[in-house]
Amino acid sequence: VRRGADGGVDSIHLDVMDGRFVDNLTMGPVVAAAVRGHADLPFHAHLMISRPLRYADRFADAGSDLIIFHVEAEDDPGAVIDAIRGSGRQPGLALNPETPASAVEPFLERIELLLVMTVNPGWGGQSFMHEVLPKLSALHGEIVRRGLSLPIGVDGGISRETIGSAHAAGGEVLVVGSALYRHAGPLRPVVDSLRQAALVPARG
Ligand code: ZN
Repeated sequence: VRRGADGGVDSIHLDVMDGRFVDNLTMGPVVAAAVRGHADLPFHAHLMISRPLRYADRFADAGSDLIIFHVEAEDDPGAVIDAIRGSGRQPGLALNPETPASAVEPFLERIELLLVMTVNPGWGGQSFMHEVLPKLSALHGEIVRRGLSLPIGVDGGISRETIGSAHAAGGEVLVVGSALYRHAGPLRPVVDSLRQAALVPARG
């Protein structure tokens, strides 16, 4: 977290996995709370968990500023959005690569971030799924058509090679994991080169 903050990232994104919604198991609210004090940046908790309604409060208490849950999770998305707002935090909504845009369209007015997955969630280091780009563009177009200022996040396989395509299709909050942390040493040059690459749409 400190290396990312020192490198100039805009926010810290925590991938929370429960061994049920996805097979992998990562961190919970205890770890989210433990790292919260190490950067003066917005913290995003990305809940890849089955029952976000049950845990929204705990991530709010852990200091997560934005709590992102999946539209595919078991709970009613509207109820989870209300619970996150009720706990004084911002709600975000994520959708998997194969989930159609129509699943999240009813909620666009009620959230603060739409997170489009460009890998199937569960593991780091996967390849960016270019086939998701038309859906990303369509959702961006719908947000513009409705006159909303809702930012779109893109999560999965973002690197120097793919960040331009994600940004050109309407992605503003570009989540980088492996392409950042595989580097040893200071991250500032890597963050700077990713920002530059984001502004150059990839060829081909
Ligand atoms: Zn994530």
